[in-house]
Amino acid sequence: MHPKKKIDDLLELVEDGIFAVYGVVTGIIGGEEWWYLACKCHKAVIPDSVAYYCNSCVKHIFQVVPRYVWFILLESML
Ligand SMILES: [Zn+2]
Repeated sequence: MHPKKKIDDLLELVEDGIFAVYGVVTGIIGGEEWWYLACKCHKAVIPDSVAYYCNSCVKHIFQVVPRYVWFILLESML
């Protein structure tokens, strides 16, 4: 389980990481692509003939998974 953080705590963080953030979703920001095909390293891949290329792994891969990105408006839970 990832460490829990409040929204205000995120503003003060100096380190990167994955955190569980609790709040109320008050909206979804549209206009961006909400999914992409990804390598097992979670980076986006580029279609290349019969395979995909991962710039992060610097190789062609054959198995990709869809990953989702949502930009949301989140309100603190007190
Ligand atoms: Zn990769």
